[in-house]
Amino acid sequence: MAYYSIQGIPLTTLAKQFGTPLYVYNADKIREKISVLRSAFDDISLSIKYACKANTNISVLKLMLAEGVDLDVVSPQELELGLLAGYRGDQITFTPSGVEFAEIEFAVSKGAIVNLDNLSVLEKFGQQYGSSVPCLLRIKPHVFGGGNAKIMTAHPESKFGISIHQKAEILDLVNQYQIKVIGLHQHTGSDIKDGKTFEQAASALFEFAKDFPDLELMDLGGGFKVPYSPEDPGVNMQEIGQIMGNAFLKFCAHYGKELKLWVEPGKFLVSEAGTLLTTATVVKRDPIKTFVGINSGLNHLIRPMMYGSYHYIFNASNEEDAQQDAYRVVGNICETDTFSFDFEGNQNERILNEVKEGDVIAFANAGAYGFTMASHYNSRFLPAEVLVDHSEAKLVRKRDTLEDLVRNQIFCD
Ligand SMILES: *Cc1c(COP(=O)(O)O)cnc(C)c1O
Repeated sequence: MAYYSIQGIPLTTLAKQFGTPLYVYNADKIREKISVLRSAFDDISLSIKYACKANTNISVLKLMLAEGVDLDVVSPQELELGLLAGYRGDQITFTPSGVEFAEIEFAVSKGAIVNLDNLSVLEKFGQQYGSSVPCLLRIKPHVFGGGNAKIMTAHPESKFGISIHQKAEILDLVNQYQIKVIGLHQHTGSDIKDGKTFEQAASALFEFAKDFPDLELMDLGGGFKVPYSPEDPGVNMQEIGQIMGNAFLKFCAHYGKELKLWVEPGKFLVSEAGTLLTTATVVKRDPIKTFVGINSGLNHLIRPMMYGSYHYIFNASNEEDAQQDAYRVVGNICETDTFSFDFEGNQNERILNEVKEGDVIAFANAGAYGFTMASHYNSRFLPAEVLVDHSEAKLVRKRDTLEDLVRNQIFCD
């Protein structure tokens, strides 16, 4: 099955060659997702702005650049990583959340496009730059969308964006300082699967846009759901592209100008490209449950414990399903540290092909918000990362060593 190898290289071979825990990424899968997205919007002038907080490995950023995909960044450090990967400033959009103004100034100094999400910041921006530097505005459309409450970003109580009900205040500042607003932006949330939610948020933004005469683009954000198991079809991107695209074209006709459409997917481009490989360290046959303990934990992949996220888990060392068992898959961190959540966000057991100590246990959908959310908790090392491209596996980040844990610590007497 496709899950057990990447570009013809078995996962067990990668685990043996590079050791575990290991993040492995499939470059072809990323390219495939880019082309699915492009073809869904094929009659539109579309720019893809990869939301790189999902995965900032320099090799992944370089791949995006080579494929003509721009970046959306949320910190000055992500911006710098983009520049190191070879991006020009103007290919990068800075979409921060509640940061000090110095970060906005830094982004402007690097030539990045800034996306402002607060009235006080908009006022400072006007005072500092007037009409000399164009900007985008992040609008909160008061729309509910997203897989769960923690990943919804456009509902009335969300901290993100300037409320769509504060149009008068926005226009006052724009007029007072002659601010050049070239784009409006909204990002509804993550794990959204139905076209209707995207359409609802988009039409709120289109309605709002009429009073902004300098627009060159509309940025409709990311959040496209991906498949989380072999049976899960994920979103119908073609259909979403149709719905959003048609609404956008209609808006452009009304607005009287052909604008550019931007989208900002993170997960959609990289989630399925990544697999986390770990080793079963113990099989614990408890009277009530059987646990599989692995040499990784929430320090390396926190999504299950943080969001109750589902990751498809399989025994990469045992592809035949001659014998199966129900296992609770747990990490080695001194916390509850469960990996096996069900689709409802509850800890449960998974049916795996029989696990023996030493087997390679793999987690799908580890390309987005995996390594970038990893930490040194329990003072364990971060995993290594490998990119498979042209059927060749390349180490793109070394495993940590003890030096990494003490690098910035000061040994006082
Ligand atoms: C995180 C983020 C995204 C990407 O969300 P996904 O669910 O990974 O597609 C897009 N836009 C902004 C502003 C974000 O913060």
